[in-house]
Amino acid sequence: MNDIVITGAHGILTGLTGPAERTSGAIRIHHGRIAEIGAVAPKPGDRVLDATGCVIYPGLVSTHHHLFQSVLKGVKAGIDLSLEGWLRTVPYSHWHLLDEEALSVGATIGFAELLLSGTTTVADHHYLFAEDYRFDPASVIFEMAERMGVRLVLARGGATRARSFDIPGTQPMPTESLDAMIRRVQDLASRHHDPAPDALRRIAFAPTTPPWSVAPDELDVIAEAARSMGVPLHSHLSETRHYVDFCLEVHGKRPVHWVADHGWTGPDVWFAHLVHMDEGEMRVLAETGTGMAHCPQSNCRLGSGVAPADLFDRMGGRVSLAVDGAASNESCDMLSEMHTAWQVHRAAKGADAVRVEDVVRWATAGGATVLGLPAIGTLEVGKAADIAVFDLSQPRHAGLHDPLIGPVVSGVATARHVLVGGKPVVENGAIPGLDLAALSAHAARVVTRLAA
Ligand SMILES: [Zn+2]
Repeated sequence: MNDIVITGAHGILTGLTGPAERTSGAIRIHHGRIAEIGAVAPKPGDRVLDATGCVIYPGLVSTHHHLFQSVLKGVKAGIDLSLEGWLRTVPYSHWHLLDEEALSVGATIGFAELLLSGTTTVADHHYLFAEDYRFDPASVIFEMAERMGVRLVLARGGATRARSFDIPGTQPMPTESLDAMIRRVQDLASRHHDPAPDALRRIAFAPTTPPWSVAPDELDVIAEAARSMGVPLHSHLSETRHYVDFCLEVHGKRPVHWVADHGWTGPDVWFAHLVHMDEGEMRVLAETGTGMAHCPQSNCRLGSGVAPADLFDRMGGRVSLAVDGAASNESCDMLSEMHTAWQVHRAAKGADAVRVEDVVRWATAGGATVLGLPAIGTLEVGKAADIAVFDLSQPRHAGLHDPLIGPVVSGVATARHVLVGGKPVVENGAIPGLDLAALSAHAARVVTRLAA
């Protein structure tokens, strides 16, 4: 394999903190790893990637997603509803129509958006595993990830209980016995889980939503089973005030204290959202190394509130950034997610609430820490070459005094090159072998069928 040298960029944000936050020069990649950063001259035989007019970030890491929702964007019935109404009218009303074709088109759209916004690692929380499927959703998602070259953590969701708002006229969300759920996660883990620090494939055990998807004592059993398999735990928590009210009423405790009682804290656990936390809950999560997948665009879109990611970060909590499903975001673009994260905390708390560099750290090193992938997330010699090269050639970037912050403050940039483990997955702004016009046409046919 020839070395790759990326040259000509304005500068590099590393995902590190302090004086190492920014650097400049070229990057040499040898056998999929970063071999040199700085004054690097290409040698005969090197493959040179031109980054003139660009800035370089670590490949972005999205730690919570639902790829199937990329064919459920902007569903009219749910466009102005908050979480519970949206769940009822969008995912719960359409899940039974999602066949293998819809899932593979949704996953392709999602991976394409993520790659073109510089994302190299994706944690997908998939919770539709029905007994009567003639296809295996996990295999479909792994196959698409393989085809697109993305690093994937499949958070295998599911429920042992149907949620009470299952709607007359539609099929209730699939459930399974706890034994069957554990057996199936074990089977997936034995086939796909790689514990390596730079794993391309991982499994997490991820019952959909603890207060409603499983019984409290089942949470203990799941935590024990995941730890005996060596896989992490993931779920949704405290997305709306309703989670807090429900847990206080039914369990007599706020959600974080309740899940902590059932073994659901630690460096092998991460939760999506955590919008409604008090200081005591944040302290429990920070002290135990439990991670947050901050999803600001979905939280804005559903009117859920602003998660205290900035405070949690300052407390030493593990913050990562995530796009959540495109049915409650209408995109899965990590650049716009960073832009929103940068703006929303400042709108609520003042212009010094978060810096661009903090947001980039959440979206890179933070994600790597939360997912337990220490070989990715920063640009340093020896790390896996997961790299995003953003082109700043649009009018919105012209006139920037500090190009390095361009992709975040402008909210849009084109990824000219993206590499996963040194392998180019976006080349000159395109995903090799993917016909975007054909994908859009295919998506439109699936949407027509789902909407009929
Ligand atoms: Zn979610």
